Amino acid sequence: MGRLTWQAATVVGARWETPRVRSLVLDAGAWPGHRAGQHVDVRLTAEDGYTAQRSYSIASAPEEPTVTLTVERLDDGEVSPYLVDEAMPGDRLELRGPIGGHFVWCPDDPSPLQLLAGGSGVVPLMAMLRARAGLASPPPAILLLSSRTADDIIYRDELAALARREEGPRVVHTLTRSAPPGWEGRTGRYDAAALAELALPLSTRPLTYVCGPTAFVESMASLLTGLGHPPGRVRTERFGATGG
Ligand SMILES: Cc1cc2nc3c(=O)[nH]c(=O)nc-3n(C[C@H](O)[C@H](O)[C@H](O)COP(=O)(O)OP(=O)(O)OC[C@H]3O[C@@H](n4cnc5c(N)ncnc54)[C@H](O)[C@@H]3O)c2cc1C
Repeated sequence: MGRLTWQAATVVGARWETPRVRSLVLDAGAWPGHRAGQHVDVRLTAEDGYTAQRSYSIASAPEEPTVTLTVERLDDGEVSPYLVDEAMPGDRLELRGPIGGHFVWCPDDPSPLQLLAGGSGVVPLMAMLRARAGLASPPPAILLLSSRTADDIIYRDELAALARREEGPRVVHTLTRSAPPGWEGRTGRYDAAALAELALPLSTRPLTYVCGPTAFVESMASLLTGLGHPPGRVRTERFGATGG
């Protein structure tokens, strides 16, 4: 792969996923294409020349002509409040990427796909599910998504629609802070008992991707390896701060 350079991208669409999370659709011009699970660096430049850059996973499937990012607003953050609340169609920013060679899913891999996400960690996993939805014979797949409240579930309707499809993924939600009346999903954090119940059988040799805040990723990865999943089959991506 050649050296990555910054390239201009234009916001061509935006949609709210939750009250704190917005997807931005970008026209990145001569985009080289990406693999499901990769991320980009985004650079913003202020009028006085000050720049800030952060990493964001790519949410769109590789075959889509535009690049979609899904950003959660951290109220005390520097970059995410701008991307969530202020970026408008027509605005320009810079992208560098795609980046990442380990946390990628190859649609040719027939292994059952096991996806675990905490909050916005669902973004690169959604790229995998979107890519999977385009396959004629997709491998079995399960997504375990942990959100704080029902209003915080990112891609809620799209995930429900995918799950309803024949050969759609199984989607299991848990809510860690509060659940609305009539909530039929799980509550509380995924723990050893929950994973023992939900994880795909070891005999099927699932390939697992775990993404989210560092504490979520570390706890899920150690629970999975404790259940016997080989560490080499559990890939992780941490959404730690990437300020610069
Ligand atoms: C590979 C990768 C992929 C990612 N993908 C996504 C994604 O798809 N969607 C998404 O929403 N996020 C993603 N992230 C996270 C993203 O890169 C940013 O970290 C996030 O948006 C916060 O940026 P910010 O500028 O708003 O916050 P920042 O200004 O960076 O602040 C982040 C937090 O750190 C605290 N903080 C900042 N500076 C200090 C300091 N000096 N001391 C103590 N605390 C401090 C802030 O108070 C805040 O709570 C990803 C990260 C990585 C590494």
